[in-house]
Amino acid sequence: MLKLYNTLTRRKEIFKPLKKKTVGLYTCGPTVYNYAHIGNLRTYLFEDILERTLLRNGYRIKRVMNTTDVGHLTSDADTGEDKMEKGAAREGRTVWDIARFYTKAFFRDIKELNIRKPRHVAPATKFIKEQVALIKRLFKRRYAYETSKAVYFDVSKFKRYTNLSRQKLSGKIAGAREEVIADPEKRNPQDFALWFKLVGRFKNHIMRWPSPWGVGFPGWHIECSAISSALLGQPFDIHTGGVDHIPLHHTNEIAQSEAAYGKPLARFWLHGEFLAIDTKRMGKSEENFITLETVKRKGFPPLAYRYFVLGTHYRKKLNFTWEALGAARRALEKLYGAVETIRGQAAKGNQRKSAFNYQRPSVNRKISGHQLIEKSAFISAQNKFNAALDNDLNTPQALAVLWETVNDTRLSPRAKLPLLLSYDKVLGLGLKTAKKQAAVPASILKLVRARELCRTNKQFTHADALRVKIEGLGYRVEDTSSGPKVLKKR
Ligand SMILES: [Zn+2]
Repeated sequence: MLKLYNTLTRRKEIFKPLKKKTVGLYTCGPTVYNYAHIGNLRTYLFEDILERTLLRNGYRIKRVMNTTDVGHLTSDADTGEDKMEKGAAREGRTVWDIARFYTKAFFRDIKELNIRKPRHVAPATKFIKEQVALIKRLFKRRYAYETSKAVYFDVSKFKRYTNLSRQKLSGKIAGAREEVIADPEKRNPQDFALWFKLVGRFKNHIMRWPSPWGVGFPGWHIECSAISSALLGQPFDIHTGGVDHIPLHHTNEIAQSEAAYGKPLARFWLHGEFLAIDTKRMGKSEENFITLETVKRKGFPPLAYRYFVLGTHYRKKLNFTWEALGAARRALEKLYGAVETIRGQAAKGNQRKSAFNYQRPSVNRKISGHQLIEKSAFISAQNKFNAALDNDLNTPQALAVLWETVNDTRLSPRAKLPLLLSYDKVLGLGLKTAKKQAAVPASILKLVRARELCRTNKQFTHADALRVKIEGLGYRVEDTSSGPKVLKKR
């Protein structure tokens, strides 16, 4: 029985989809004006575990993710700079180039982390028509109003505005004062923009579309409401994102969608906690953020980061340190080694004919006492693993079950292997190809890192000498666009 923590009710609830077998799932995607940092990627990892757990429970998934390729503003409120245009100015490229480049970079990152790409990826700029239609609907229902600068949502008209955040509306006023100054025609300081007109600081805004309120561009929140309603309908089953979305972005999505259609937006709201770097919250606004690129350059495989993230429950804050990532890498290497050994033993064991059906242990009848013990160990391991995930995606517990299975003396290698591989359909640690990723000893990695450092400092003679040394030890280095790759020589 799958239980998920619903932010809306602040309780773990039994999950059942609206339709019998298909789950409608919406994920707020990246703003593609820069690389994703590993804190953002943590959220996508939790959402990946959610999707894979739903699959393990026998559901089909219809998953939608937007990409914010139209500028939204650096403060997340209606003030601040336009993120896309800031990125374009920084790199001397057009906003469209910026969006294309960082969208590609994002999907490369998630692929390397073994995160399933959502079936429907919806760039906001491809759904302008739907956003305009939704704003029109909000006008008709008297939730929207127009000033000389923008179109706003009147939060005082929507009584359930703070249901998700459980904050006091008045508590938001202080922070919103800047906006009152920015547009004195706003009715309430908390009102948020649905559409910006090309006036004042947006006079030269590059991305622009016609609308009944003049040429301009949509506010940030409206895209998710328009896209989810267009592709999933309303209500749908699960809406996910980072905890930072609770007080503003998701609150505004709910206000827009529920005001427009008079019914709930989504039934379950799941939120992933922050990643802190040495106890400080990492965000795009802070200059020093770590990307997956940095992780790889330092010699860590992306899946080591995945293993590190799975070690903590998604609703707990996680503190990132390079030492902790190193420990995760060592654990993952140890796991690959163990799976390799089990695979080898299982292959030998295959030559002896066995009556036990490991794919479907419940069908085994005529089996010996020894096999009976194995069968019960097999089923109990499977149940424990399912129970961990079904308990609000408890991945640290699931990892513990995985290690228990590796070390379980009641299970033969032929029983262990299919168990481990079935766990990995959810954990996504690449156990199926563990041989290819066979552990590179720490001593070799140290040489590879030293060589990288030499190359960065343009000490090429020294770097070459290190390469020769690495090759002498039976490994070779390939320099790829994503950093050095170390392979065992054949
Ligand atoms: Zn969203």
